[in-house]
Amino acid sequence: MTTPLDLPGWRHVYSGKVRDLYVPSDSSTSSGGGPDDRADRMLVVASDRVSAFDHVLSPGIPGKGELLTTLSLWWFDQLAGADGGRGIPNHLVASHTLGLGRDGVANTPDDVTSLIPATVTGRAMVVKSLEMMPIECVVRGYLTGSGWAEYVQHGTVCGIRLPGDLANGDRLPAPIFTPAYKAPMGEHDENISFDQTVQLVGPDRAEELRDLSLEIYERAARTAEDRGLILADTKFEFGVDDGGVMTLADEVLTSDSSRYWDAGTWATASTPHERMASFDKQIVRDWLAANWDRSGVPPELPDEIVERTADRYRELLGRLTG
Ligand code: ATP
Ligand code: MG
Repeated sequence: MTTPLDLPGWRHVYSGKVRDLYVPSDSSTSSGGGPDDRADRMLVVASDRVSAFDHVLSPGIPGKGELLTTLSLWWFDQLAGADGGRGIPNHLVASHTLGLGRDGVANTPDDVTSLIPATVTGRAMVVKSLEMMPIECVVRGYLTGSGWAEYVQHGTVCGIRLPGDLANGDRLPAPIFTPAYKAPMGEHDENISFDQTVQLVGPDRAEELRDLSLEIYERAARTAEDRGLILADTKFEFGVDDGGVMTLADEVLTSDSSRYWDAGTWATASTPHERMASFDKQIVRDWLAANWDRSGVPPELPDEIVERTADRYRELLGRLTG
């Protein structure tokens, strides 16, 4: 699917649909490769690949890896306390953006250039390798997507009963934690109840995941609101570090992991589709839905769709980070 890059000092161990993981080339391999290949740190490289309906599409979106990495790093910094809130532990060790090191330790330019190969600067982060929780920590402040689909059928989202009169795209009375089981490679993630989360990770970890996820969502939603944006929903991943600390991992609050809407449009638009015009790959999904019957290989994305998607990503980054 993808050819791993030849990165000095790093050895490729895993490629997801969008990101490629590397471990230090001198680290020993216990498990024969894959995301569980343990080393104390890893290099996460975001590619320009875009996926929709579980397929990686062609061509990629030029600049996407860098835009999403920049956005993720900005949010890590906000959540480390730049937004005025308490510092949320994260997995970051080094990136091209200085001063963002975990525990508030600034990275010197030498540290960074020695860690991050020049060919991937801007779209790579060095992270602490964590023991990942098998849970996708989804928080929804608005009803849409798979939440809307379940609500229409059962009046619930992940087993949580909601008021009976909600429309697609409506704001929920309060944000809800709707976890999903992180399925092994190639399988669909599955929405689960809080009780099932307790069975998977134990009551203490389950509560910690829920409380952290809701706290981070609420902080981020406020920040977005100040910039005229709605954070409709988002997904976090956490892992436990060597000291047992629950640590925010993966990418955060990017347009791959979150739905952002324009607050003004949401308030005034006349159709649900219009009011939920989002800053993610909705343009790609809409085009694909109209031009592909979901059998065989998806068609090549036209230039116009690629450019409009790249513009949307850039616009989101500009509006959030100024
Ligand atoms: P998909 O293709 O469905 O997105 P994926 O989520 O596994 O699969 P990517 O998001 O492309 O693929 O790859 C990132 C991977 O790295 C994820 O498996 C994520 O759980 C893992 N990961 C992120 N941060 C850390 C960390 N600090 N320690 C260990 N694993 C991590
Ligand atoms: Mg992922």
